[in-house]
Amino acid sequence: MSVKKIAVIGAGVLGLSVARSLAQQGAKVTVFERSHVGAGTSSTTFAWINSNGKTPESYHHLNALAIDEHIRLQQERTTEGHWLKATGTYEWAAGAPEQKRLEDRVSRLLELNYPVQNLSADELRRKVPEIRVGSHAGDIWYFPGECLLVPSIFMAWLVSELHVYNSELKTQSEVTELTEEKIGQR
Ligand SMILES: Cc1cc2nc3c(=O)[nH]c(=O)nc-3n(C[C@H](O)[C@H](O)[C@H](O)COP(=O)(O)OP(=O)(O)OC[C@H]3O[C@@H](n4cnc5c(N)ncnc54)[C@H](O)[C@@H]3O)c2cc1C
Repeated sequence: MSVKKIAVIGAGVLGLSVARSLAQQGAKVTVFERSHVGAGTSSTTFAWINSNGKTPESYHHLNALAIDEHIRLQQERTTEGHWLKATGTYEWAAGAPEQKRLEDRVSRLLELNYPVQNLSADELRRKVPEIRVGSHAGDIWYFPGECLLVPSIFMAWLVSELHVYNSELKTQSEVTELTEEKIGQR
C-alpha cells in the first residue's frame, strides 16, 4: 500500500494536532511553518480547555468531547512532560444583571449534564486563599472538569510525536503558493 504524503501549513496547536493525527494513521506528513513553532495565536491564548458557554448544543458537545480527549492524551503520556493542569474553573459575577446571565448559563449547562458545582464565597476563600472575592460577589460556580493547558509543552510533545511517526517539521518555510502539480514547496 502506498504511503500518503500530506503537507500541513502552520505549526500552531491546530496544525500540529492535525499533523500528529494523520501521521499516527500512517501518512508521511510534512509541516511547513514560516517562522517557529507556536509563532501565531497558540502562544498568546489563555489556553482554557472548556465547553463553558459554547452554543449551539452541537458545538458544546464537540468541546466537551475535546476536554475528554485532552485528558486522555495527557494520561497516556508516561514521561515527565505535563501540559494539562486539571484545575477546574471558578466563576462569579458582581452585579444583578451579570449574576442573572451567569445563572442562566449554569442552568443551561446543568441541563446538558456539564459538571457544575455551587460554592459559597467563604468556601472558595478557604480553598484558594490567593483569590480575592469581593463582598458583592453572588453565587460562586465551579466547573470541575475544565483545565488549563501549557501550549509550549503541548506543542513540543506534538512535534516529538511527528518524529515518532516518520513525519517532519520544516520551520522558516513559508508556503507562498499552492498548485495541483507535483513541483514541491515554493
Ligand atoms: C487572546 C486569546 C485568547 C484565547 N483563549 C483561548 C482559550 O482560552 N481557549 C481556547 O481553546 N482557545 C483560545 N483562543 C483561541 C486559540 O488560541 C486558537 O484557536 C488557536 O491557538 C489556533 O491555533 P492554530 O494552530 O489554528 O493557529 P496559530 O497558532 O496562529 O498557528 C498558525 C501558524 O501558521 C503559520 N503560518 C501562517 N501562514 C503560513 C504560511 N503561508 N506558511 C507557513 N506557515 C504559516 C504561523 O506562523 C503560525 O505559526 C484564544 C485566542 C486568543 C487570541
